[in-house]
Amino acid sequence: MMLKRLKRLLTGGARGDGAAATQPLPRVEADAAGSASVPLPASTPRAEPTLDRTAIDADAARIVSRLTRQGHTAYFVGGCVRDLLLRRRPKDFDIATSATPRQVKDLFRNCRVIGRRFKLAHVYFRNEALAGGEKIIEVSTFRSFVPGSEDSADLLITRDNVFGTPEEDARRRDFTVNGLFYDPESGRVIDHVGGLPDLDRRLLRTIGDPDIRLREDPVRILRAIKFAARLDFAIDEGVMAAMQRHRREISRCAPPRTLEEVLRVFRSGAALPAFALLGESRVLEVLLPEIDAALTVHAGLVPAYQGVLSEFDRRVQAGEELAASVIVASLSLPLLPWQANPHGGGQDLMGAMAETIDPILERLRVPRRDAEQVRQILLSIRKLVPGYRAKRFSRATLAQRPYFPLLLQAFSIHCRAQRTWVETLNAWEDLRTRTPVVEDPRTPRGGPRRGGRAPAASTDAASERTASGDEGRRRGRRRRRRRPAGGESA
Ligand code: ATP
Ligand code: MG
Repeated sequence: MMLKRLKRLLTGGARGDGAAATQPLPRVEADAAGSASVPLPASTPRAEPTLDRTAIDADAARIVSRLTRQGHTAYFVGGCVRDLLLRRRPKDFDIATSATPRQVKDLFRNCRVIGRRFKLAHVYFRNEALAGGEKIIEVSTFRSFVPGSEDSADLLITRDNVFGTPEEDARRRDFTVNGLFYDPESGRVIDHVGGLPDLDRRLLRTIGDPDIRLREDPVRILRAIKFAARLDFAIDEGVMAAMQRHRREISRCAPPRTLEEVLRVFRSGAALPAFALLGESRVLEVLLPEIDAALTVHAGLVPAYQGVLSEFDRRVQAGEELAASVIVASLSLPLLPWQANPHGGGQDLMGAMAETIDPILERLRVPRRDAEQVRQILLSIRKLVPGYRAKRFSRATLAQRPYFPLLLQAFSIHCRAQRTWVETLNAWEDLRTRTPVVEDPRTPRGGPRRGGRAPAASTDAASERTASGDEGRRRGRRRRRRRPAGGESA
């Protein structure tokens, strides 16, 4: 079957130690109450894990220290602890504390309490090196969660969380390797969930029963794929089976959260192995059935996707940002009648767009502005292909269009992925450097950015958002616009 072949092709050579990653790892059971059967009591000094303290953000360390001096418990938590233990550079430093958001606010002048129902604190620091000029450190209060709604058969989290103990806070997190605390005062890692042995084994496992934990919040299925690919971890067999079983429940999550997590998969720097996992978990089938079906029918598309995904990874690893529209357009391009007739527009192209691309944009609920950019890119990209001619077409005019940088990025991804038209690409890139930037009046300028993390993303706040929650909806809201993106008539 094509997906199997795709998986083989995509995994082979995609990761440094692909062979090791695909070797079956011993399955580790976790009981339904959520306690892992490989416990590592916090007090056990067995091979005390070490992490590089110099890699800890100094501002974050000061926050923990001040909270502790005021008599609160405060730890680093989640991704930063995981990454420090793996000797990776954390994207951001999240703190969990016994102090309430109000108490945190009273301690830090540069602090804002966010969230409507479940509140957490953001502490701001000036950092000129970051886009937006500031860094945000998220400080959340330990909490437990009240699972399920009144209907106990429905596990989707729809209720608010409540403050809790550190152990409860660890247990409500998604994966064991994301449930670790680090206490900088004592230099100890605190593991209530069996995260340390899983880090050693490079194994991604839910905290507790995967059937329950994935149904509570099906976005965790996408997070599992992102983390496993990015960290080069194996997914526990039982977790993978649960991912397959519950993949259709992803559609129950708030669409902006799902889209955000899908984009994070492709921006993970490991989109190629992630795509193989999307295939293996059969999530591709529900998320992007058009691509799934095309890959099953056309063997020739396998290298096309392999090329595009490797290009995403190369760029992300080099620090390039990939706009949502560029990602969606690049994934859609191989579905269009493009190879056969790269200059072709007209009915064929419009028909294929309506039949194949519009359903993708609708299913992923791509915000209107990004969806217009996707269409713009897919309709205009043929104009960049060598030999394109049309009445009144001017390269210089095209290069001045506000959407041109995104169009060129998508073209560049295509050219480099397929190793084609490289000279033409260079010529367009030259033209771009010589063309004054025309600001898109609709592009917001330098809004605040969370320190070193994706725009508009909140880390621990993610788990606060209920699966159908309004937090995601608010963040994903569309900007109101008066005019559709200006169409370039050739
Ligand atoms: P990254 O390096 O991508 O930021 P991360 O582990 O920090 O990875 P975030 O999305 O930033 O992930 O979330 C921070 C922490 O919040 C996670 O480590 C996890 O403990 C918890 N978390 C986030 N989302 C969820 C969720 N959907 N369900 C349960 N816990 C979650
Ligand atoms: Mg994070």
